[in-house]
Amino acid sequence: MKIPMVDLKTQYETIKDEVNSAVKEVIESTQFILGKKVSEFEKNCAEYLGVKHAIACASGTDALQIAMMALDIKPGDEVITTPFTFVATAETIAIIGAVPVYVDIDEKTYNIDPLKIEAAITPKTKAIIPVHLYGQSADMDSIMAIARKHNLYVIEDAAQSFGTDYKGKKVCGIGDIACTSFFPSKNLGAYGDGGMMFTNDDTLNQKLRMIAAHGSKERYVHEVLGVNSRLDTLQAAILDVKLKYIDKWNKARAKNADLYREKLKDAKAVTPYVAEYSTHIYHQFTLRVENRKGLAEHLTSKGIPSAVHYPIPLHQQPAFKDDSRKFDLPVAEKIAKDVISLPMFPELTEEQIDYIANAIKEFVGTK
Ligand SMILES: *Cc1c(COP(=O)(O)O)cnc(C)c1O
Repeated sequence: MKIPMVDLKTQYETIKDEVNSAVKEVIESTQFILGKKVSEFEKNCAEYLGVKHAIACASGTDALQIAMMALDIKPGDEVITTPFTFVATAETIAIIGAVPVYVDIDEKTYNIDPLKIEAAITPKTKAIIPVHLYGQSADMDSIMAIARKHNLYVIEDAAQSFGTDYKGKKVCGIGDIACTSFFPSKNLGAYGDGGMMFTNDDTLNQKLRMIAAHGSKERYVHEVLGVNSRLDTLQAAILDVKLKYIDKWNKARAKNADLYREKLKDAKAVTPYVAEYSTHIYHQFTLRVENRKGLAEHLTSKGIPSAVHYPIPLHQQPAFKDDSRKFDLPVAEKIAKDVISLPMFPELTEEQIDYIANAIKEFVGTK
């Protein structure tokens, strides 16, 4: 059996008519940059997530950078984050001249460990960026309490968690700003790049919009230095169709995760843990195993792809090699060696999950 890591083709088949007519409508309108479709999609996202403002931009990476610019994070300022995430989280901190400070992760959730944050705070610390990794919320009440006590901003990196609930409410409205990505393989994925920022603060809403539009509110009047970061109108039209299905798709992912868990319950592998305060929308279904490389090769030989999110914690990345600081991050370093992500998408069938689980058990053995 040959199984894809994600199956965007099968998903497209289920929404083809709606997507095609939405695309055609934009082309016929010739409104290719911003316009009504982008504002409508922003409004629908804000409503879905229960947050006051949504500001579209060109990618999740841009969203993080613009968020920090809007919070006036300056060269030399320190920003606390997790080392166990996609590079964009720390890359954007460094690219604006600020300094990423890594705090180790929790061994069960793989998200930043709030118990270790306070020790990393210095007079230069300006913000904390928790990542809701793999589709599960970080421990937000603990993080917000620390941030309020020390007068720090919080930017949620929700690139992997569009629709995750934290204590019964969607993530993205908890921190000062939240950022997400519409990269095609994310849970709400465009047919190209895209991103969005969220805030409940009216002043920040204005600042985020202005920075994303060359620092301008009024045409050709530039109040601050900004960037050019827009969500394509075509992508907004496609995403607005897909937004209607996000709950259904996230539920289908969770059902697939339950099937994986059930079929792997006696396998020598650690399946994802779900904290009591969060739902999980399984952007990734990630196991921990002893011999990851061997398992990946065995799966490949059976037509099953797998991936590693992420093999190198950010403090050990070549891009940060000139950074001479020493970090004590044993949990992130250990977990980065063991994790392996399995095929995960809403349309995965029970037959496929069965086949994958059996192939895994064949290799890792049972407890
Ligand atoms: C995907 C991702 C990003 C970046 O999003 P892009 O749209 O690809 O720029 C940032 N942070 C995390 C955790 C991600 O998974």
